[in-house]
Amino acid sequence: MEVPSNIAGILDKLENAGYEAWIVGGCVRDSLMGITPHDFDITTSALPEETERVFAGMRVIETGIKHGTITVISDGVPVEITTYRVDGEYHDSRRPDSVTFTRSLREDIARRDFTMNGIAYSPKRGFFDEFGGAGDIHNGIIRCIGDPEKRFSEDALRILRGLRFSASLGFWIEDKTAAAMLDCRGLLNNISAERIFAELSKLLTGRRSGENILRVMTCFREIFAVMIPELRGIFDFKQHSKWHFLDVYQHTVLAVQSAAQLTAGKENALPLTLAMMFHDIGKPRCFTRDENGEGHFYCHAAYSAEIADEILRRLKCSNALRERVCRIVKYHDTPLKDDDRAVRRLLAKHGEQLACDIAMAHIADDLAKKEEARSRIPEWYAVISRIHRLASECCFTMKTLAVDGNALREIVPPSPLMGKVMKHLLKKVVDGDIPNEREILLQEAAKYVANRGII
Ligand code: ATP
Ligand code: MG
Repeated sequence: MEVPSNIAGILDKLENAGYEAWIVGGCVRDSLMGITPHDFDITTSALPEETERVFAGMRVIETGIKHGTITVISDGVPVEITTYRVDGEYHDSRRPDSVTFTRSLREDIARRDFTMNGIAYSPKRGFFDEFGGAGDIHNGIIRCIGDPEKRFSEDALRILRGLRFSASLGFWIEDKTAAAMLDCRGLLNNISAERIFAELSKLLTGRRSGENILRVMTCFREIFAVMIPELRGIFDFKQHSKWHFLDVYQHTVLAVQSAAQLTAGKENALPLTLAMMFHDIGKPRCFTRDENGEGHFYCHAAYSAEIADEILRRLKCSNALRERVCRIVKYHDTPLKDDDRAVRRLLAKHGEQLACDIAMAHIADDLAKKEEARSRIPEWYAVISRIHRLASECCFTMKTLAVDGNALREIVPPSPLMGKVMKHLLKKVVDGDIPNEREILLQEAAKYVANRGII
């Protein structure tokens, strides 16, 4: 197993001072799977003050000293070193009342969540794998260390971590662990919104989530309904629509999976998967059936956007992300047209990034419908390439218009009319009726003012 030289150096220093030191957790798991770890956690028998002494010559930060964690800056990179510890009693399914340090690696590993996260490795000592983590990784299985119910009752976030790993690694959840996740789901109400939202985000955007979200959101829908009770309203909700072959929740889940596949590894992965999760959540509020028995959901996008806004506020999502998601939801089913005028208007209204998000949402949505709807997808792709082409060619905001209020002052006196003239000019440019050139804009402004007899 490969260990970067700065990490190996830290392990050596601790070992040379007479302590045990290992890399542990996610970095060992990822390395065994052939994935490059994004960080390395070190666990050691040295007490925090002993670790500090070992690294006296280096920059050391007392990050979580109460929990035994010290951060050493090595080659400019922060590395966390944690003393072997045992968690005390849990009373709130959140955090232990206290932690106790120990000199036993086995005890430290036993407090960790899943077998795959309970492997330690040291270049000097080799692997420590008391709970069968390597075998479970090999078989693609997520299994609690110890009794699952007890472990989820101590910290309910582990339920969501399990689902996150199942989606992002494509691992199956062992029966007893899965049953306990479902049984203990109510305890997620004790977990802070920030921790829930962080795990949910990782679940939606993991490296293999595009293959697994459908399974996870279907098998464990009751857990999702604890985190987001509004989802319950779309469970088993029949659509009676010629476009759909799935109920609203199943369609939603397939649309989330499609979005995860379309955006894997890209900047828009989280906004789009979240948007698809909520895009039809307002449907039950506006369901009607016509005389032929066909189901309709007029204005559902606006309702869904309102509900998404409430949910994301409650989950403490950042304002920027919440606003982006809600706009995608609100416009996810407004008709798009692959021609210059329509796309210029789209760009003027939303800007390039959001216009693309909205077109992508159309694709993810249609991928989760019947064949008739899927046949529209090539047109949505054509819209996306037109968005990119026109965005670099054209002006879509007042700021980039080739004239401003000053330039127009001789034609329009300072007054509320100035705003109207500017809006008119921008519309003409966006619609492609006139080019964004100063002289032509001045002429158009004069014509506009004269036609209305303003002066
Ligand atoms: P990631 O790839 O997201 O970093 P990770 O498993 O490394 O995944 P971390 O939050 O970095 O997750 O935690 C490091 C290790 O600490 C885990 O591998 C696990 O051994 C242990 N751990 C983390 N969170 C918990 C928890 N809630 N309960 C028990 N053990 C935990
Ligand atoms: Mg980690």
